[in-house]
Amino acid sequence: MIETSDSIIIRPKVVYSPNYDIKFLGLEKLHPFDSCKYGRAWRVLADRFGDRLIANSLAPVAPAPTEILQLVHTTDYLKNLQRSHFVAQSLEMDSLGFLPIGILDSRVLQPMRLATMGTVMASEAALEFGVAINLSGGYHHASAERGEGFCIYSDIAIAISLLRQSQKINAEDRVAIIDLDAHQGNGLARIFYEDPSIHILDMYNQQIYPNDTYAKERVDWAIPLLSGTKDDRYLGLLKDRLPAFLQESDLPKIVFYNAGTDIYERDLLGGLKVSEEGVLERDRFVFQTVIDLGIPLVMVLSGGYASESYRLIAHSISAVLQTWNN
Ligand SMILES: [Zn+2]
Repeated sequence: MIETSDSIIIRPKVVYSPNYDIKFLGLEKLHPFDSCKYGRAWRVLADRFGDRLIANSLAPVAPAPTEILQLVHTTDYLKNLQRSHFVAQSLEMDSLGFLPIGILDSRVLQPMRLATMGTVMASEAALEFGVAINLSGGYHHASAERGEGFCIYSDIAIAISLLRQSQKINAEDRVAIIDLDAHQGNGLARIFYEDPSIHILDMYNQQIYPNDTYAKERVDWAIPLLSGTKDDRYLGLLKDRLPAFLQESDLPKIVFYNAGTDIYERDLLGGLKVSEEGVLERDRFVFQTVIDLGIPLVMVLSGGYASESYRLIAHSISAVLQTWNN
């Protein structure tokens, strides 16, 4: 345990459920996404930390119910998610459209709703313990009325909405989103288009999906990158911009860190060339910077489309647990 200048005692929590993994019909063969990376990352951490991990973990027990989803998503959109073809289109896997909705819902959407509750739990835990990591979530392409890019529910926006509703934070309190997934976080920017309390830094590859110019206009600090960007430039930009972003005006009451590992050089979709060590250094820098400022931090996993993604995630979380959980 380390005490920060603001006397917050940092005791990192890991939020995880074995039901996060999406396992059926060889889904992973239809999408380059390792839909079992959550469980794989958990098992690496469990091997390393054993009872210490268990003692510092939390598990969502039920998927986010409709009344919670409705805080952010439109009724029409949630209704449309009861139709197989709509769900398949939203997942950008049209070939799944022939499946009964019951199967799609229980095998794909339900794990996502459970992970959404995980982000909610992590946001509450971060306020209490300084740091919390949800071993899933980070669906940053989902907007109020639309799912895309394998993102159906906006877990971060839902968590913010619930923190406000329960008055754990006020509507005018500043909330920062640090989105370092390789893809532009267009859904979050669209949801918070008219909400000046939400302060967004988004560093992403501008040469890949979604290239959403409308969403980009909303982002407070957009840092578009070119395909092939390597460690030196990536980390240089991050180290130059992140501290200034967080201290631009009132310090945020909470930071949501969308820690996509698809910046990794062997990722199938991200197009960037950041090494394994670079990913670890990125995460360490974000944690150190936010914690030094005494701001509660929620990390969610977001994208990561390499067979090694789970290992990168486990390395970063191990570093957090080793540094702040003695
Ligand atoms: Zn991504």
